[in-house]
Order: sequence, then structure tokens, then C-alpha cells
Amino acid sequence: MKKITIQTSTNQYDVTIGEGLRHQVLEYLPKQYSRIFIITDSNVAPLYLHDVINSINGASPVDYAVVPAGEASKSIQIYYDLMSDAIKAGLDRDSLIIALGGGMVGDLAGFVAATFMRGIDFIQMPTTILAHDSSVGGKVAINHDEGKNLIGCFYPPVAVIYDVETLHTLPFKEIRSGYAEIVKHSFIHESSFWSTISQVNLIEAINDTELVNHLLKGIEVKAQIVEQDEYESNIRQFLNFGHTLGHALESEIGYGEITHGEAVAIGMLFAFQVSEKLYEIKLPYEQLINWLKSNQYPLKIQEIATDKLVTRMKRDKKSKSQKITMVLLREVGKPLIEQLDDQTIHLWLGEFLQ
Ligand code: NAD
Ligand code: ZN
Repeated sequence: MKKITIQTSTNQYDVTIGEGLRHQVLEYLPKQYSRIFIITDSNVAPLYLHDVINSINGASPVDYAVVPAGEASKSIQIYYDLMSDAIKAGLDRDSLIIALGGGMVGDLAGFVAATFMRGIDFIQMPTTILAHDSSVGGKVAINHDEGKNLIGCFYPPVAVIYDVETLHTLPFKEIRSGYAEIVKHSFIHESSFWSTISQVNLIEAINDTELVNHLLKGIEVKAQIVEQDEYESNIRQFLNFGHTLGHALESEIGYGEITHGEAVAIGMLFAFQVSEKLYEIKLPYEQLINWLKSNQYPLKIQEIATDKLVTRMKRDKKSKSQKITMVLLREVGKPLIEQLDDQTIHLWLGEFLQ
């Protein structure tokens, strides 16, 4: 079992990572709660919900809600339904919400916790590799038809309990999706992290020790950034490496059709190309694309108009005054934020998508 403490100017919480932690939830609760409300999804519930309920062992009354698996559940309707469930269950300001699932559940349940009676405690129990990223840093949100995460806020959990045993049931597609965020963390951090990840073969089962090391390193990279810039006034934007195009692809292709990590993988390739062109440098583009191909990332996008993607990229939350904001790399481990002219991006994206 390993522990990382996240310490920002306003908050502190522990991320505990280890095997079988879902059986020991009670040990990680910071206090006694009047009620506990677990929010999970329809894939995770049959696998792990009962373990978590059993581990609370009657210490507080427990209720739960199971939302349909998939990004579509990060909606205003499901949010409203969960609020109704929480009210009916009798939650009060001394109650706790547990988000048991991947990033979708974490973002949704976190937003419910942030807004229920102006905010009650919540715990993240991530069950995907991707959620090493989403469970840390306190961003919670739901989607609007016009774009991802447009309705949300900063609301840190009181604890993150990461049981890596739950990752054993992840489908390959989700392992691949989660590793894209680890790759992202490696590129914005330092070249030795990417050197390690570039040796990983996701097709062969990764052993737990190796996986935990990668997750810990990813969380550390994120923690260091979030600790310095919790509310994303500057360097936290580095975590958006690969996301400007990634988010546009997700919205344009449809959330069920492409995973977050698959979209980010393509977004990182494009960010590499833009960096190489703009700064006239050479990045390990070939190495990245070969790694993605050998791990069967889907890199071909079927007939999407460049126009539509550019419009989406302009609408990204981070973009200012019609420019497109992208995180680029001067070299591996040296990210920077650029405001780019939409016509240049249109041209380069057109070439990239060929
Ligand atoms: P997800 O939660 O939808 O999980 C992916 C799939 O895996 C789902 O079908 C889910 O039911 C299933 N699943 C989850 N755990 C499982 C397990 N242990 N065994 C078997 N199946 C399991 O998606 P995700 O990839 O974890 O996260 C993506 C979401 O995270 C997006 O909504 C994205 O916007 C968000 N995100 C948020 C942040 C943040 O800082 N808040 C950062 C990155 C991503
Ligand atoms: Zn992401």
C-alpha cells in the first residue's frame, strides 16, 4: 500500500493505492458520517458495490444509486435524478458521497457532492486506469450538448481510495484509454518517465507492481502541478496536453464511439506535429506513433470535416478571443501554452488528418 498526500493552498487529502482496499473502506473515512451514499455505474456495481457496502459494515446507514455505464450519464438529467435520490435517501450536510467507478462516475458523483446542500464530503474510489488522473485534482463536472465538462467546478475529495485489484476486470480498450493519460503525464514531466512507458506492452498483461509504479508516477506528476496551481490559472493547463483536439474529437465522433484516452492519443500526435512545425524542432513523433500502433490504438478517424473540429477547438473552455489554445512541447518534459491562429490550425489539422 502506498500513500501520496495532496497539499494545495486550500486543501489536503490522501491518495491511498494498494490491493484490496475496497474491503477496508472504513479505515480511510476521515470521520463518522450520518449516511453514506454510493454512486456507481452499471458495469462496476455487479463487480464491486457489495464489497464496498460490506466494508462499511454498518458504521453508517448506506444507500446507493447505479447509473448507466458510459459518458452519456454525465448529463443534467442523471445529475437531477441523483439529487432526487440523495434527497429521498435523507442525506444531510454530515453525509458522505462515495464515487465508485471510473472518471465518468467520479466527475458526476463529485459534482453531485459539490452542489448537494452547497457541498458535502465525497470520496473517490477509482476503478479505471484513467481515473488515476480524474480522481486527483478536484475537477468535477457534467457535460452539456455543446461540449464536455461545461457545467462543473473545483471540488476536491476528502480521500482517494484506489484499489488496483479492481483494474483486473478492465476491458483492454479501457486499459489503453487509461494509459494515454499516463503517456500524457510522461510527456509533460521528463524524458525518463516516457522512456519507461515507451517500453510497456499493453497487449501482454502488465504486472501489478509495474502498473502501480506507473499510476503512482502519473499521480505524482499531476499532484505537483495541482499543488502549485489548483484553479488552473497557469501551469495546470499543461495537463491539457493532447486535449484540445482530443475533446473536439470526442464531441464530434460521439462519446460512445471513441474513448477519452483514444481521443487524447490522437490529440497528442497532433500537438507533437504542431510543436515540431512551430518551433522547428524534432520530437519523438515516430516513437510515439509506433508505440500507439503496437498497442492497437485506433488512429484513423473516419471522415470528419476539419471545419467542425476547428470550431469545437475554438469553443474549448481554455480558448480566448477566437484563438485556439494548445499545450505544446519545446522538448519532452518542457510544455508550454500557445494561443494559435485558427487558420494555421485549420491548415495543419487538414494535413494531419490526411
Ligand atoms: P468511465 O468511467 O466511463 O469508465 C470506462 C468504462 O469502464 C465504463 O464502461 C465503465 O463502466 C467501465 N469500468 C470502470 N471500472 C471498471 C472495472 N474495474 N472493471 C470493468 N469495467 C470497468 O471512463 P474513464 O475512462 O474512467 O474516465 C473518463 C471520464 O473521466 C471522462 O468523463 C472524462 O471527462 C473524465 N476525466 C476527468 C478528469 C478530471 O480531472 N476530473 C480528468 C480526466 C478525465
Ligand atoms: Zn484527460
